[in-house]
Formats: sequence, C-alpha cells, structure tokens
Amino acid sequence: MVLRVNPVHRLKVETESQMEMIDVTSGIRRIVKESGIMRGMCHVFVPHTTAAVTINENADPNVRKDMIRELLKTIPVRDDYLHAAGNAAAHILSTLVGVSQSILVENGKLVLGTWQAIYLCEFDGPRSRTVLMRIMAE
Ligand code: ZN
Repeated sequence: MVLRVNPVHRLKVETESQMEMIDVTSGIRRIVKESGIMRGMCHVFVPHTTAAVTINENADPNVRKDMIRELLKTIPVRDDYLHAAGNAAAHILSTLVGVSQSILVENGKLVLGTWQAIYLCEFDGPRSRTVLMRIMAE
C-alpha cells in the first residue's frame, strides 16, 4: 500500500456549553469530498487536552446526554483533584474518550454505519475548538 500524504485539514468548532457532544460528521464529509480521494483513510485528531472525538449514535440525542451523565458519575467535575485550574475532570475525560479516530474512505465517502456520527466531545467549554484531519489515499 502506498500512502499519498495530503495537507492537514482543519475544521473550526465553537462549542456552546461546558460539556456537550457536537456532530461534526457533515464538516468531515465535506473535507473528504473536497480532497478528491476515493479510497483510503481519514484520520481525525483533536489537538486539545480537555476535548475528545468519538463515534456513536446519531438518531436519539438522549444517547449523548446519557453518555455525558454516566461519564460524570465516573469522573465527577468536583473531587479532590490536585490540578489547580479546576478542570481536572475534563483532562481525565479527554484521555478516557480519546483524541483521535480513523475512518475508512471508500468510493470517496466516509465508511460509517447507518446510525454512526462523529462527535467532538467538549468537556471544558464553551471554547473555540479545532478538529484536524489527514486524508490518506491508498
Ligand atoms: Zn487544566
């Protein structure tokens, strides 16, 4: 397999609450389409220490609410954290959920399941966030 490396693409996202999951699928789909790459891989990376990127259900918005609620039961916002900036939970959640995803590209399109969407996870908003992408042709 020969990888043709293309420039890094950027998607700017303004988040609106302290914790939320924002569907960025359409923006990533557009960038994949504009790249003209028909077959390969789209690597998505969030260059932040209090945000993350994940793939999950796009139909019922309650799934996102449940996810954030349950994550906060595991990693509460307030606890005996040592980090003085007050956003220790957001840092931990970023590591737990993860800052990157790789999605196959086939026939010029992202390969996602019917019920899958790509979400930027904000854990310490509202803030300006950037989603970076590299689309590699096979
Ligand atoms: Zn911090």
